[in-house]
Amino acid sequence: MSVTLDDITALAKRRGFVFQSSELYGGLANLYDYGPMGTALLRNIRNLWWKTFVDDRDDMVGLDASTISHAKIWEASGHVAGFADAMIDCKSCHVRMRADHLIEDYFTKKGKEEKVEGKSLEELDVLIAKEKIPCPTCGKHTWTTVRKFNLLFPVHLGILEESQSLAYLRGETAQGMFVNFKNVLDSTRVRLPFGVAQLGKSFRNEITKGNFVFRTLEFEQGEIEYFFDPEQTKWETLYEEWKKTMWEFVTTTLGVNKSNLRWRAHTDEERSFYSKRTEDLEYNYPFGYKELWGLAYRTDYDLSQHIKFSGKDLSYTDPQSNKKFVPHVIEPAVGINRLFLMVLADAYWKDEQRGRIVLKLNKTLAPYRAAVFPLVSNKPEIVAKARSVYTALKSAYPTVWDDRGNIGKRYLAQDEIGTPFCVTIDYQTLEDNTVTVRNRDTAEQQRVKIDELKGAVA
Ligand SMILES: [Zn+2]
Repeated sequence: MSVTLDDITALAKRRGFVFQSSELYGGLANLYDYGPMGTALLRNIRNLWWKTFVDDRDDMVGLDASTISHAKIWEASGHVAGFADAMIDCKSCHVRMRADHLIEDYFTKKGKEEKVEGKSLEELDVLIAKEKIPCPTCGKHTWTTVRKFNLLFPVHLGILEESQSLAYLRGETAQGMFVNFKNVLDSTRVRLPFGVAQLGKSFRNEITKGNFVFRTLEFEQGEIEYFFDPEQTKWETLYEEWKKTMWEFVTTTLGVNKSNLRWRAHTDEERSFYSKRTEDLEYNYPFGYKELWGLAYRTDYDLSQHIKFSGKDLSYTDPQSNKKFVPHVIEPAVGINRLFLMVLADAYWKDEQRGRIVLKLNKTLAPYRAAVFPLVSNKPEIVAKARSVYTALKSAYPTVWDDRGNIGKRYLAQDEIGTPFCVTIDYQTLEDNTVTVRNRDTAEQQRVKIDELKGAVA
């Protein structure tokens, strides 16, 4: 992979894809704001996801749950007790860091790999002591013991301090589907097997390695809970179907290079105790292969937990056999911001021959389908003609107008935001009603009749 994370962050800032959050006041670590181009790209990713997994299917419905949620939800889900990072403090310089990062970075520097996932707090203490791992900030070896810090953001509801109640910003969107399972069942015509999909923000107060938008405190998820009767539907079959669907979405709909993708099965230590199988679809980011999209068979664990904690009946009754049972679930869960970063990394192309940087985005992902230029901005007939072309094209596709600087500069700017077509209105247009259409990837130009322009950029 030739593109670096620095290449991507520089382009993202230069062209208005991503900005540091609260930059004006010094910035906040691991939080980002999406600029005009980033917002358009994110929205296109979201819309394609929703179209593929909800609108184009007849076994899926949508949900949009609140981000602030009842503390009991997170007790039932196990997040209050178990959703925590193992942290360690340096007693000399008081820096606090994740124990797994400390150990992994130490071994990486020595050219070795050390898997810390699944190790107990005591095992981490032993390893740090045995290797005499020094503090990366001050070089001393004076650590506290490893302790757990919860990742959920607490929220205090109510204006009177004495009657405030504790809630949490959701740590995942998935719980919204489980706690609304009965509501969806009772209010729609769904029958098993069916899925509930949700797009939305989640929040985790964690220390991250700062790989740009890969892992942030606030992030967007696209999660599906696919409910089924394990006696009617073999989970292995469903699981393989979902793998195919996810792969297809990434490689065809988003147009990402297959050679940068791989499946990785979770080891026994990584996998949650209730999950029968978990695999991650991983992308080869500039910082290595990392999880893009998780696929987990979670059995009936989640609904059963909420039955236990709420005391409510969340079972399903089969309309034919009247069999009453708690459905099982398969969960495909993707980070929308990870899709975004993958798409940027995969599309980034240094065209050294022509001395330009190009985002080779799929047409359906690009912030603009076309840009319209009047060749010169001081000839009223040309500008008026260009305006009418622009207005007509804009009714069909997101289209941008640019009459600043010379044509070469305008092309470079559009290449860097991935606009597939640049349309120029020139003197010849006034004579024969044709325009030049320049292709982003080949930089070739052809003359197209204005009447046929919509088809030419389709
Ligand atoms: Zn230190």
